[in-house]
Amino acid sequence: MNRHEYYKLLQDPKWKIKASFIRKRDKHMCRHCGKKSHRLQVHHTIYLKGYMPWDYDNETLISLCSTCHKKEHGIETKKKKKKVEKPKSEKKTKKPKRTIKIKPIDDESTDSN
Ligand SMILES: [Zn+2]
Ligand SMILES: [Zn+2]
Repeated sequence: MNRHEYYKLLQDPKWKIKASFIRKRDKHMCRHCGKKSHRLQVHHTIYLKGYMPWDYDNETLISLCSTCHKKEHGIETKKKKKKVEKPKSEKKTKKPKRTIKIKPIDDESTDSN
């Protein structure tokens, strides 16, 4: 499952109900730093193959603030390591087709003296 598909799953009402339950359970407090926020993200402490986000036990889900959540996923907020090198857009001008005619070199002729 790629990130986009996973993100789409998180828009599912089934997940939203579950996530709001987790946030309420955690009293809208980040389980890592204790920050209170009503915009906490619910994080899966484990990932199981073939599981939908809402299939997990509540025990495996924790509320995290966005900062802690990013840390949890190894996303550093300050350093932006991801540098997508864009290929320099070369002007797409149609090169004139060059037909290179290779003349066969007669080596034998030089040999014969
Ligand atoms: Zn936090
Ligand atoms: Zn997470």
